[in-house]
Amino acid sequence: MLDTQRLNEIVKLDRDDVFSLSLNTDPSLVEHQRPKPAYRVWTHNAVQRLVRRLAPDVRRTAEPAAQRILAHLDAMPQEGRGLAIFAGPDLWQDYTLPFPLPNHLTYGAPDTIPLLWAMHEYAPYAVVLAFHDHARVLVAYLGQTTAIDEIDLELDTEKWRFKTGRMATSTRRSGVGVGRGIQSSAFEARVLAQYHRFWRNVAVAAARTLAARGIDRVIIGGDQEAAGAVSAALPRPLRETVIGTVAIRPHASLAEIQARTLPLALADRHARDRRLVRSVVQERRVGGTAIDGTAATLEALADGNLRTVVANRDMRATARACVSCGALGVKPGPCAACSGDVRRLTLPQALPMLTRQHGAALELVSADAAAPLADGIGGLLRHPSAGSVNLRRGA
Ligand SMILES: [Zn+2]
Repeated sequence: MLDTQRLNEIVKLDRDDVFSLSLNTDPSLVEHQRPKPAYRVWTHNAVQRLVRRLAPDVRRTAEPAAQRILAHLDAMPQEGRGLAIFAGPDLWQDYTLPFPLPNHLTYGAPDTIPLLWAMHEYAPYAVVLAFHDHARVLVAYLGQTTAIDEIDLELDTEKWRFKTGRMATSTRRSGVGVGRGIQSSAFEARVLAQYHRFWRNVAVAAARTLAARGIDRVIIGGDQEAAGAVSAALPRPLRETVIGTVAIRPHASLAEIQARTLPLALADRHARDRRLVRSVVQERRVGGTAIDGTAATLEALADGNLRTVVANRDMRATARACVSCGALGVKPGPCAACSGDVRRLTLPQALPMLTRQHGAALELVSADAAAPLADGIGGLLRHPSAGSVNLRRGA
């Protein structure tokens, strides 16, 4: 399973001898149903091509990890729809994922972009399903949906029957709440009151569970009356995190629940990404609180003035980092600040490490969402920009 902690350890690795492989292994694709699936052919070719390009001494270091990747691919069972591998001397991590990743292979500093993007795209959300006598709380993350809580209503009809005498026969025959006359409408009212108390309890239990797990997106589902009542009973902070409501039948399978809820969660994710980019675009002015373009963003990042960096997952840019003072820039040649040596970095691959070093959060978004940003990269500033930065950007 993919977790942030393991991935962070990869991001922190300061080494340049790592193969980073991501693959689409989706078994529903025809080309993956052959004895030798297309992703295996692609990887064999990509590894050979990459290794052939390395200098002889680098190639000697890289060769064992390359062979291990190919052996793993040839032997592994067909599982999941995506695969990611990090491999190098004394390093092996593989992740099987329930969604496809782009086919991508690099050698050098670890490239965690495909996985970080997937964690952003498939960020956790909760599903609270409510019915008349049953409720479920589920958590979905990285394309997998798991039930974490089942709550049942225990209707205490025994006691009521006792009190209302002749109710016993009519309820048994016609079912709860379908009786006739004064007695049965009293019964009906008591059942309804029990339902409403149950739904309030479900709302409270769900709020407690989700707060404990730090989940900030909720989809409400189930039958209309129950879902509506649970929604209305949610404590305010949780009610504001509801991103949608869907009708789901009782006893729906996890696969069915996921198929109904994931499109809502993805739509919410993409809307958030567009809002983030829009807030950068609106504030990229003299004295504004955001900035865009590769050079301006890197400069603000190195100054420690960025809270959040937002970047196109597929952007391709070259950057330079000064080995002695850490200044970031895009121009080749010695460091503009201290004349020290600079090393070449590739973006977005270097962004996880750079944002970590400079205390900023990284939001990787699709090329579509990032389109309004100059160079597909920008950020939210801690302090309003000085005019000079904007002049350089040509605003
Ligand atoms: Zn320098």
